[in-house]
Formats: sequence, C-alpha cells, structure tokens
Amino acid sequence: MLNDQELLRYSRQILLQHVDIDGQLRLKESRVLIVGLGGLGSPVALYLAAAGVGELHLADFDTVDLTNLQRQIVHDTDSVGLSKVDSAIRRLTAINPEIQLIAHRTALDEDSLAAAVAAVDLVLDCSDNFSTREAVNAACVAACKPLVSGAAIRLEGQLSVFDPRRQESPCYHCLYGHGSEAELTCSEAGVVGPLVGLVGSLQALEAMKLLVGFGEPLVGRLLLIDALGSRFRELRVKRDPGCSVCGSKHA
Ligand SMILES: [Zn+2]
Repeated sequence: MLNDQELLRYSRQILLQHVDIDGQLRLKESRVLIVGLGGLGSPVALYLAAAGVGELHLADFDTVDLTNLQRQIVHDTDSVGLSKVDSAIRRLTAINPEIQLIAHRTALDEDSLAAAVAAVDLVLDCSDNFSTREAVNAACVAACKPLVSGAAIRLEGQLSVFDPRRQESPCYHCLYGHGSEAELTCSEAGVVGPLVGLVGSLQALEAMKLLVGFGEPLVGRLLLIDALGSRFRELRVKRDPGCSVCGSKHA
C-alpha cells in the first residue's frame, strides 16, 4: 500500500496511465543494484530514489575527489574524501526518506558480485571500465537479471539494455567482447557533465520502464549519442550465438 505522503510525493508519475498506482507499487517493491556512483550513477541514483524504487543497492569502493564534482552530481564539496556510497546515501536520504538504501563499500569480487546481483530485480552498470562491465554482464546473464548499460566518454554516449529473460536479447559481451577503446576512462580522455547526465537519465528511464512494465525497452538496440552534432542514432544489435557468456544460455 501507499500512504498519503507517498501518493502526494509520486502523484505526477501516478497520473500517467502507464504508471498509475499499480506501477508505483511495483517500483516500491523493486530492488535495484547501481554499480558505480560516478557521472552515470549520480543521475541514476537521484532519479530512481526520487521515483520511489523501494530498495537501492549502491556499489562503489571509491571516495569523492574534487575532480569528480564537475559531473558526479550526487556528491558535493562537503563530501570530498568521504566514501561515494556514504556521500550518496546522505543526499538520497535527504531527497527521499521513504526508500531503503543498501551499501556495498568494498570492491565486489566474483562471489560477492553474484550475490549482489541475485539480491535485486535489475542492475544498472554505471562503471567506467571494461573489466567491471564484463564482470557485471556475466553475473547478470548467470542470474538472468536485466542490465541497463550506459557509457560516455569525451563527447559521445552509448546506451543499451541487455535482458537475458528474452531469447533474442544480446548481452554486453556479444557487442563489446572483442574490445574497443573501452579501456579508456574519463580520467584519461575527458568528458562533459551534461553528457553523462543525459546517458544516466536515460538509464534511469529504461530502468523505470522495465520495473513498471511500460513502453518498448532498448533491448537489441544500441543508442549512440553524438553530443558534438546533437545527434541520436540507433543500431540494431543481435545476439552472438557463439558468445562465450550468453551463447550456451539459450542453446
Ligand atoms: Zn552474449
């Protein structure tokens, strides 16, 4: 059930026939893991907390640095030196005290990542490196949990949804398994804040669609954002039957 305060707090999205009371209850009953509380994880955590996702599981082993604040908007100047998880908890609690926040402050190894993924309904990859992305994807395929994946570097962004519950869905490894410039990180290549904000906001939106069950999720499609030209492009992406991560899953 939703109390009067919750009905008011979420009234503008409950007004949408796609959400309604039932959808809001589904959000309240949902558990979501956010891997990385940086430029992507900031808007993801802020919007999903504000939207009333019942349990947010926050994973980041890093501390807030002054160079983060240009784009990682869940943190502020007073948080420099604090763990990113604790900094985010402070801000998210201030926005919405109705939800539960679960902290993962240490680096997740294979076992703890598997357990963290098994404990939720959906995962958002907001990390900034290839090895974490590969590990999160493998854990999601193994546990059959949907993964909302976003990336942004320099002036380019990418977004896709991998949903192992759907036969036709590729996984992250189907697309990126052969490597690219994925090893480059923002600390080396640079990035602008509004672009990671845009990609993170779209990740939060895809997560809400999947949790509530409305619209057409970005499964089997890769959204490419060219910030320089203000252009959005979409590529069809297929599952690789020979993929070493998801290939045998559907065989
Ligand atoms: Zn695959």
